[in-house]
Amino acid sequence: MKSFTYDRATSAAGAAAAVARAPGAMFLAGGTNLLDLMKLEIATPTQLIDVQDLKLDRIETTPDGGLRIGAFVSNTALSAHAVVRRDYGVLTRAIQAGASGQLRNKATTAGNLLQRTRCPYFYDTNMPCNKRKPGSGCPAIGGCSRQLAVVGGSDQCIATYPGDMAQAMRVLDATIETVKPDGTTRAIPIADFHRLPGAAPDRDNVLEHGELVTAVTLPAPMGGRHFYRKVRDRASYAFALVSVAAVIQEDGTGRVSFGGVAPRPWRVEAAEAALPQGAAAVTRRAFADAKPTDDNRFKMTLATRTLAAVIAQAKAERP
Ligand SMILES: Cc1cc2nc3c(=O)[nH]c(=O)nc-3n(C[C@H](O)[C@H](O)[C@H](O)COP(=O)(O)OP(=O)(O)OC[C@H]3O[C@@H](n4cnc5c(N)ncnc54)[C@H](O)[C@@H]3O)c2cc1C
Ligand code: SF4
Repeated sequence: MKSFTYDRATSAAGAAAAVARAPGAMFLAGGTNLLDLMKLEIATPTQLIDVQDLKLDRIETTPDGGLRIGAFVSNTALSAHAVVRRDYGVLTRAIQAGASGQLRNKATTAGNLLQRTRCPYFYDTNMPCNKRKPGSGCPAIGGCSRQLAVVGGSDQCIATYPGDMAQAMRVLDATIETVKPDGTTRAIPIADFHRLPGAAPDRDNVLEHGELVTAVTLPAPMGGRHFYRKVRDRASYAFALVSVAAVIQEDGTGRVSFGGVAPRPWRVEAAEAALPQGAAAVTRRAFADAKPTDDNRFKMTLATRTLAAVIAQAKAERP
């Protein structure tokens, strides 16, 4: 691990300004992703600004009946919160499908949204990787791509976004609140938060250097039945090959986001309009532009079957 300095921020704007001042500075939250990347020297920050004292660990209701989740709320606290369990069940289920109990105790809301890909080449510093070092190449293309994206990739990168919580946040139409280094704030719809790789795969999201996530807000509950189904190689401690976050209403309409298939949570609103016609009708549209490899073509069938299981469960649970 390369040497670095460590400071604890005392205000959100101060944290943002401190990171912005140094090109090599980064925020530290639970550290469960960042410290792993530092040990492998994939991330080499010169300065860590710890955000644990910023009092961003509260969950509050909003005047319009929604929920405001502090950026530092742990995954455990969020998934166990009574209002989340009652009104945003897809979020509780998605979080609990991720990592392990110990990791969820440390992992935070912002850190989870900002975790980096699990592409095996990204983690192997003996190999080139455009996401680690732009312009160095992408050995996954033409290499081992079983875990990687079937849709949304580019000729620079076909990594997937690995997280579970963001799939639920996408279905719930969450908004990400930030403070910039100049003290101004912005609200970013989650649909616009994670980037597709295009020609700049090193940039996973639209945050500026030094922009601090302060909270995630959810609109008022939308009712319906909430599902998160994750298919993976083993029952725990594994990232999704394919996952489905869904909210299905009594009449069969609803929302669906796919995980494990793309560089960001994959929700295609025009495709979910086909939910009453069944899973195949949805995935035909959601994956219309897919470019699977021979290694990961199976994800297309898996996505259809996983969604079919969700739809069947929704029907079976109707009163
Ligand atoms: C063995 C293992 C298994 C796992 N399995 C799963 C899984 O199945 N599903 C899943 O979803 N996740 C899984 N994870 C990932 C885990 O959920 C993430 O590591 C965790 O959520 C990251 O949160 P953190 O608070 O520890 O972030 P950190 O590691 O502290 O930070 C992550 C990134 O976010 C940035 N950051 C943190 N807070 C802010 C902020 N407020 N504003 C701006 N930037 C910020 C940091 O600078 C860093 O770049 C697994 C992790 C491990 C180690
Ligand atoms: S898919 Fe992306 S993360 Fe994986 S090796 Fe290629 S450039 Fe790197």
